[in-house]
Amino acid sequence: MTFRGPGFNSESLLNLAASAIQGIKRAQFERVPKMVLFTDGGLAQSPAVQARIKLIGVCAVLVIGGGCWWWMAHQVPRYGQAALAQTEAILALGPRPAGSEASQAVRQRLRGQLEAAGWVCVGQVFERGTAQGEVKFENLRARFAGGDSDPWQRAAKGLLCAHMDSKAIKQERFLGADDSASACGAMLEIARVLASSRPQQAKQMELVFFDGEEAFGKDITAFDGLYGSRHYANSWPTNVSKPSFGVLLDMIGHKDLAIRLPSDTPDVLREAVLAAAAKQGAGKYFAVGPIPITDDHTPLTRAGFPMVDIIGDFTQFSWWHTPADNFRNLSADSLDISIRVTLDVLGRLLKQP
Ligand SMILES: [Zn+2]
Repeated sequence: MTFRGPGFNSESLLNLAASAIQGIKRAQFERVPKMVLFTDGGLAQSPAVQARIKLIGVCAVLVIGGGCWWWMAHQVPRYGQAALAQTEAILALGPRPAGSEASQAVRQRLRGQLEAAGWVCVGQVFERGTAQGEVKFENLRARFAGGDSDPWQRAAKGLLCAHMDSKAIKQERFLGADDSASACGAMLEIARVLASSRPQQAKQMELVFFDGEEAFGKDITAFDGLYGSRHYANSWPTNVSKPSFGVLLDMIGHKDLAIRLPSDTPDVLREAVLAAAAKQGAGKYFAVGPIPITDDHTPLTRAGFPMVDIIGDFTQFSWWHTPADNFRNLSADSLDISIRVTLDVLGRLLKQP
């Protein structure tokens, strides 16, 4: 095994160590005095002392270099911890059904966090009649400022989306920790990473937090639920080309992470996600589910946006749409995996012409 790096070459170090040991042996064999001699010209050392100093130096470099290598090999980016903290702050604002005061507070928090990271936010307000009367919804869109006077004039190559609302469930305090506050927390962390480390990618993206994904009735129907994504898809200007891909995150922070892509995911996006998961050492958490899924990507797909829904398998668990979907449902490790895979996916898709 050979370790190489800037200023670090294990072969040359081993050669140096061998020559130092040889020097000590030769000095002992030749019975050269070990003392340090002081001369008019300064400090002079016997060959044996010189060889020992050389050996100590080699050992020090090996110990320090080995320690640095081990430390670097075991460093895992803790995106997950930051995303979990963001999620906790969202949950602290309480249940956030569309049109509620808490939903307005969540939107304000998202906006503040995004703007602090260098993103420019725009609200997209609209009203719809629902089973609970007329409701005012507001999607939140964000583009990276990136030094441009108007980032909204740039073409967006990719979308990254999640829904910000929680389902209104009567007589229950439903927080929707993984459905879908965790995806909002992850998006804030991804926004921070893109802005600080990958500004050229950030400038090609639009982030969208959809309002009103949840139906006011029991299940999503053609008329109830997906309010924000429907409005967003229908309001995209006809004279502006659509992004070439969109990534939707939903239920991506569960402690028992099991991502199941909808079966009708476009080939190029499915392959990008599975390849990214394998590259990130997370292949076992990602698979393609047996059926299509109705979620915020559905209206966008119908409107011609190629979309992938990175969604946790909610069909097998008893917590879905119950008060058990709370903070204890989440894990920083799961969030970390989902964020790393999503960043990898964005890197792959934004590189393509
Ligand atoms: Zn839901």
